[in-house]
Amino acid sequence: MVTVNHETCIGCGACEAICGDVFEMKDAKAYVKAGKESSDDACVKEAIEGCPVDAIS
Ligand code: SF4
Repeated sequence: MVTVNHETCIGCGACEAICGDVFEMKDAKAYVKAGKESSDDACVKEAIEGCPVDAIS
């Protein structure tokens, strides 16, 4: 499962920029797109590593 912790997400947009197939921004928070919760795209790992506040798991 790919999840975003909305208490720690600062809305920087990096995950969407890195992996727009899986992440999208809404109201300055990142969300996992519908149907992408189980994505194992390589870019998910890049987004996890690229998140400045470790909000993605
Ligand atoms: S990279 Fe992290 S802090 Fe930035 S929008 Fe995505 S989840 Fe939020």
